Amino acid sequence: MPEPTNTALPAAVIAEAQRCLNCKNPRCRQGCPISTPIPDVIRMALNGQEDEAGRILFENNPLTTVCAKVCDHERQCEGHCILGKKGKPVRFSQIEDAISSAYSRRMTRGPAQPNGMHAAIIGAGPAGLTIAVQLARRGFGVTIFERRAQIGGVLRYGIPDFRLPREVIDDFAYRHLVLKDIRVRPNTSIGAGGALGIDDLLADGYDAIFVGTGVWQPRRLNVPGETQGHVHYAIHYLASPAAYDLGRCVVVVGAGNAAMDVCRTALRAGTDSVTCLARGLAASASKKELSAALAEGMQLRCGVRVTRIGRKDVEVIGVDGEGRDLPGSEDSLPADSVIIAVSQGPRSLIVSTTQGLEVNERGLLVTDGCGRTTRPGIFAGGDVVAGARTVVEAVAASKRVAGAMEAYMRERAAQRAEK
Ligand SMILES: Cc1cc2nc3c(=O)[nH]c(=O)nc-3n(C[C@H](O)[C@H](O)[C@H](O)COP(=O)(O)OP(=O)(O)OC[C@H]3O[C@@H](n4cnc5c(N)ncnc54)[C@H](O)[C@@H]3O)c2cc1C
Ligand code: SF4
Repeated sequence: MPEPTNTALPAAVIAEAQRCLNCKNPRCRQGCPISTPIPDVIRMALNGQEDEAGRILFENNPLTTVCAKVCDHERQCEGHCILGKKGKPVRFSQIEDAISSAYSRRMTRGPAQPNGMHAAIIGAGPAGLTIAVQLARRGFGVTIFERRAQIGGVLRYGIPDFRLPREVIDDFAYRHLVLKDIRVRPNTSIGAGGALGIDDLLADGYDAIFVGTGVWQPRRLNVPGETQGHVHYAIHYLASPAAYDLGRCVVVVGAGNAAMDVCRTALRAGTDSVTCLARGLAASASKKELSAALAEGMQLRCGVRVTRIGRKDVEVIGVDGEGRDLPGSEDSLPADSVIIAVSQGPRSLIVSTTQGLEVNERGLLVTDGCGRTTRPGIFAGGDVVAGARTVVEAVAASKRVAGAMEAYMRERAAQRAEK
């Protein structure tokens, strides 16, 4: 199959790339959880080798087109760039976005030579998709089982499309799954409530299994009034915002990135007022997401704890920096709807129906550093192991797990051949 050929990058991107000092000890790379070889990519792009730069990006990170858009660059590569010490850091996100999108649109590489072994992957979020691509590149047959109708996990059913256009995920599905013969079984939940369990997959001869089911159990506030009809959880709302009639005045509890997504989605849907409540003395969302939500009209109130949700209001009390209540600071805010965005934990669909899979006190799967669970042949990674984290961390973990899965499957094949 022909691979992409060079095309010029936009002038603004070239100008940004030209600011890079090509440091010998690149701090930007150290700040990247997946160690993207940033100076090399920039140097190649400036030398007219955009395709080589794109190839390196995809080989290092199959979700490079996604990460260019949703990573917290201020805390990662750009936050570590040496130029940021006295001025503006190199905006590598802009450079990565341009190179990876252009390269991706023209990628047509087909499947690798099959090696006769097959892996089952449960969950088509960033963790499962990374494993799928890594194993398919090495010739393993891959089948993905996904509970929802489409692939992407939080990328499709959590992050709003004004932050991550759905074409990016659709393009990934075509370039990486369709062209590489990776099979996806949509609407197929593995474990409790589904027709199939992990033991069925093993009985059917899959050589190894990866569990990348994420964290989809909303954390409760545990205050009176949480069961009322106008109270919702962030991940349910974000999965299908059009299904909700929120009224004119919305209170969002929690101030992380998911809360910012809720606030902006509600404001864009025409809600008059959205107030975000943070228990801490500052919002925990990234600077970029917080300032975008404030610019769109979100109001932020920090240092408050919700004590009760009424039919038309939310009762709060002020807290100090240690989280202690401040007597006399009780207040109430009007609310037609309340959306709770205080993180998520794992569901137990698989663990409750599979023997030998150990979980920790938070219900997260216990694994070693390479994703081996407590049951041989079953591996896990992403949020279901680490708790609610980030896309790039799920990708980084999955790269390590793919290596361990490959070694496990090859060793078993060698043992079979010896018999
Ligand atoms: C609203 C929101 C916004 C976020 N914004 C950002 C951001 O801007 N940047 C960033 O880096 N990170 C962000 N994150 C975090 C990031 O999206 C996650 O860390 C990442 O998606 C984890 O990947 P994963 O593959 O482990 O899990 P998921 O993305 O949750 O994917 C798990 C998949 O498994 C499927 N599944 C679950 N159970 C089963 C089953 N039993 N059988 C079959 N399939 C199953 C699910 O349907 C899902 O498709 C955000 C998270 C949320 C909730
Ligand atoms: S730290 Fe900044 S200037 Fe140095 S190589 Fe990285 S992006 Fe370029």
